[in-house]
Amino acid sequence: MNEPFLLSNLVELQDLDNKIYKLIDSKSNGENVLHLKSMEINYKEFSEKITENKKELSEFFIKKADNEKKIISLELQIKEIEQKLSGDTLDPSETLNYSNQKESLKIQINKFKLEVEELKEQNGDQLKVMNDQENSLEDIKNQLINLSKIVKNEWDKIDKQIPDLEKEKLEFISTFPDELKELYDNLKKRGLEVIAAYRNDNQCGCCGVELTSSEIEQILESKFQQCSYCDGVVI
Ligand SMILES: [Zn+2]
Repeated sequence: MNEPFLLSNLVELQDLDNKIYKLIDSKSNGENVLHLKSMEINYKEFSEKITENKKELSEFFIKKADNEKKIISLELQIKEIEQKLSGDTLDPSETLNYSNQKESLKIQINKFKLEVEELKEQNGDQLKVMNDQENSLEDIKNQLINLSKIVKNEWDKIDKQIPDLEKEKLEFISTFPDELKELYDNLKKRGLEVIAAYRNDNQCGCCGVELTSSEIEQILESKFQQCSYCDGVVI
């Protein structure tokens, strides 16, 4: 059955199929998708590093939180004393007493503040590393959000394109004789990379094998012009 027109339709069908495949594939292997995937890995790694660092610095963070709590409570006490001191019902000895208490509270506050500062200095290197990591994590997070939006848009576009191509393919296939449909499906099922292609001088367009003139003759005489090496349809 040498009907070049129909056989060349196989090439077109294959092109359509390839277009659909490429679109579907780009949803999981597109440049931005791959970038997104590697950024997600990066994000996870940084999160883990930060968690690790936090664990190592846990004593520092506990002490810091504890001191800060104490400072807040002491500051409240100072406020209460200041309120009392601003009233006019205190006698001089009470005033002196409250003033002394206030001074002593201030000294305690300073002591706790100093402790935190000293601890910060002791753990300075590690805290800086962690701070940098947290900044990087924030950067990655923002990039991830932006890239996710871009990828989602790309996917939406692809999802709109695929049904059109599928429809075009179905309509196109419906013009094919059954046996050509079957041939195409069978070769595709077998995983043939190039199902149909034009001959390149003496080369099979599908597998690239150099064909002798008698082989070419044989192919042209065969029912579907199939290459004896790869089974692809040579046009
Ligand atoms: Zn071949």
